[in-house]
Formats: sequence, C-alpha cells, structure tokens
Amino acid sequence: MVARILDGKSIAADLRAEVAAAVAEMKAASGAVPGLAVVLVGDDPASRSYVTGKEKACAAAGIYSREIALPATATRAEILAIVRALNADDAIDGILVQLPLPDSSIERDVIEAIDPAKDVDGFHPTNVGRMVLGLPSFVPCTPAGVVEILRRSGTPLAGATVVVIGRSQIVGRPLSILLSQKGVDATVTLCHTRTKDLAHFTREADVVVVAAGRPHTLTGDMVKPGAVVIDVGVNRVPDASKASGYRLVGDADFADVAEKAAAITPVPGGVGPMTIAMLLRNVVEAARRRRGAGA
Ligand code: NAD
Repeated sequence: MVARILDGKSIAADLRAEVAAAVAEMKAASGAVPGLAVVLVGDDPASRSYVTGKEKACAAAGIYSREIALPATATRAEILAIVRALNADDAIDGILVQLPLPDSSIERDVIEAIDPAKDVDGFHPTNVGRMVLGLPSFVPCTPAGVVEILRRSGTPLAGATVVVIGRSQIVGRPLSILLSQKGVDATVTLCHTRTKDLAHFTREADVVVVAAGRPHTLTGDMVKPGAVVIDVGVNRVPDASKASGYRLVGDADFADVAEKAAAITPVPGGVGPMTIAMLLRNVVEAARRRRGAGA
C-alpha cells in the first residue's frame, strides 16, 4: 500500500478562504475588523518565523494584526503589563503570546493573565476546563487542526481506535480529550515516554497521531496496514544540500510509514498550515463573541 497524502496546505487554504469570507461579511455588516495581537519575546528564529507566518495569514484573511516585540530580557512584570493593556484594548479580539518564552518559568503566569475571552490559543485554564467539560471554548490550534484534517479527509472517527503519541499540554493531551468527546467518539489511548511497548498500541490503531518532537518515533513496522497517520512533529535535521543547512522532518519515518498506511500527512505541509488556519478561525470567533453575534 502506498499512502494517500493528506494535503494540509490545501485543506488549510479552504479554511482560510472560509475565514476571509466570514471577515468580509463581518466588515460589511458592522464595519468591525477582527484583531489579533502577537507578543514575541526574544529573537528565537523559529518563533520569529512562526510569528511572521501568523501575521501574513492574518493580512491575507483581512484580520488586523499587531506585533509587540520585546527583548529577551523583558521581565515578568513588563510582559504582564503588555498583556493587561491588550486585555483592555477594544481593537484586539485575540491575544497570542508566542511560546516558548526565554524564561519558561513565567509562561503559566503570562497565560493566566490573558483574558479567557481573548485567549485564541486556548491555553488559559478556563478554556482548558471548558473544553474538558465539552462547553464552548477556544480549542488549542494544533489539536483542533488535527481533528479538522481528519474530518475533512473523511477519516471515520466514531468508534475508531486512535493512538496519540505525546502528552504535552499544547498538543497530545488536549487532542486526546477532543477525540474522545461525544460527537467525535474515538477510543483514545494516550502514549508517552513511560509507555511500555509503544508499538503494541500503535499496531492496533486505526489512526495514529504522533506528536513526540523526535524523528523516527513512528516507523512502518509500528503501523497497521491501512491506518491513517497524522504527523505533528517538526524537527530540524542537518542537511548540507540546503542553503539553510537543515531540513524539516516529522516524527514519522515518512517513506517507510507511507508503505503501510492508507493516508499520511507530510512535514512540512501537513499539520503546520492547519494550525495557522485554526488560529484565524479562533480570532474571528473571538470577535463574534466580543462584538455580538452579527458583528
Ligand atoms: P513536547 O516536547 O512538549 O512533548 C512531547 C511529548 O512526546 C511528551 O509528552 C513525551 O512524553 C512524548 N514522547 C517523546 N518521545 C516519545 C517516544 N519516543 N515515545 C512516546 N512518547 C514520546 O512537544 P510538543 O510541544 O507537544 O510538540 C511535539 C512536536 O510537535 C514537536 O516536534 C513540535 O515542534 C511539533 N509541533 C508542531 C506544531 C504544528 O503546528 N505543526 C505545533 C506544535 C508542536
């Protein structure tokens, strides 16, 4: 079997067109323009490129975006003051603080300072709690993108056996909750570094989502023939043939897994573009809720 490629870029383009149409409708109805503030602390090149990608996507969808760039030396008090000012800023519907922060020990405080109504990353405990309860909430963008790519590719999830590899707070754990929720109805196993015999679980799965942050975590022999594989991982590996000196690979051995799977997401061009599309969707949703349904 050679897997069908699940083209996240193309699915995300559809989603972004839907968001652009919703933004245009909002503008026509009330003159309101959804606004996103992105707070970038320090000069990590990967964070810089993620932020640029998000800003470009906002512009293409007609969403106003404002970048607040702070030096790596910015203190907890300075960052919290910026977040509080954005909470009170009427032009801003969504606030995103690009993680990781140079000082990771203050991340929790910064996330908790964001008004949950503007928490378009869905990391605030209020939104996490509401998601667990199945109440309307902002859902973290990468897990939401994984569910959307599965849905739009026609992957059956009700009653399906799904293995999620990785239990991070931003990807694996929320994804395991979303997939097991009523209405999605998958049977979910969440695996992590302490899981004994990972392959034992993955070989039984109709769908494997790998979000471990390590190349070669999932190989062809670990996959049931006909399974659907979603590769969330983004890893830089040295590659002398590239001008940058590196290339991006996922957590799955793509060619090897594609021999067994029915469908697989590529890296790049799989989950990454979906994450940005879901962020845009959350910003429009935040604007709708803050400014009234018809805004
Ligand atoms: P993380 O390091 O916070 O968490 C990784 C998790 O994987 C941990 O729970 C760990 O227990 C588990 N794990 C690691 N190796 C394992 C193994 N061999 N077997 C079983 N479990 C293992 O990472 P994260 O923030 O969740 O990100 C995961 C990957 O997804 C990274 O490569 C990251 O760059 C990528 N990512 C991509 C997007 C996107 O939009 N495409 C968004 C977020 C993260």
